[in-house]
Amino acid sequence: MSSSNTDFVLAVEGLTVSFDGFKAVNDLSFYVDKNEIRVIVGPNGAGKTTVLDLICGRTKSTEGSIKFRNRELTKMKEHQIVRAGVGRKFQTPSIYGDLSVFENLEISFPRGRSVFGALVFKRDAEVLNRVDEVADMIFLKDLLHTRADLLSHGQKQWLEIGMLLIQDPELLMLDEPVAGMSVAERRKTAELLRRITKDRSVIVIEHDMQFVAEIADKVTVLHQGKILAEGTAEDVKKDEKVIEVYLGH
Ligand code: ADP
Ligand code: MG
Repeated sequence: MSSSNTDFVLAVEGLTVSFDGFKAVNDLSFYVDKNEIRVIVGPNGAGKTTVLDLICGRTKSTEGSIKFRNRELTKMKEHQIVRAGVGRKFQTPSIYGDLSVFENLEISFPRGRSVFGALVFKRDAEVLNRVDEVADMIFLKDLLHTRADLLSHGQKQWLEIGMLLIQDPELLMLDEPVAGMSVAERRKTAELLRRITKDRSVIVIEHDMQFVAEIADKVTVLHQGKILAEGTAEDVKKDEKVIEVYLGH
């Protein structure tokens, strides 16, 4: 395994995880660029969610390396990986329903950046600015004081993305963010994703190939824990192996 530095934001090499002998991810290598939107697709059970679990440290790898900005993640704990700049959204939203949109964003602002008590005032202004900025980005600026459980399903998904954005991660990972969304909400989510990659890289797991084509710089097709194909959405859509195991049914 190479120990040299790379310009990739994320370099995954030879990654394997074995659950009681079953390799859910099997000798996987892929590389994500700065400002890239990478989409991972593949049939159910292909290992997509497990890849995100491995990157965010929720699952420990059996073998291989995950370098994020040249830092090895496989030996780090989940909270250290978050602090290093990796944000992860799970399939089910984990927002606080009884708090407002504003409060949900505010509590997600990273703590401990200002060391001195005298800077509390300055910090408050910083938090307010950032909440405003993020609320605008996630289309919820007019709903800042609405209780989160009153939002639509799509708005809840955006709020959770906002709760990650407020921490300003350099790599954001989203597991099926548009599942259950209306067509209009999907379109806005595509716009949101394009906006946020101006400063960061995003990995998205997604099934809707139309949405994939709209957002992806590059698509990685997983099958049985391995890469079946990789390229532009156009390329993978006409790949015979991909049609056979994934798109064809
Ligand atoms: P996908 O997200 O592509 O649908 P997953 O990554 O969720 O697939 O799962 C890949 C395979 O690994 C599945 O067969 C699943 O049952 C298995 N798997 C995932 N997590 C675990 C675990 N913690 N223990 C045992 N098997 C697991
Ligand atoms: Mg999954």
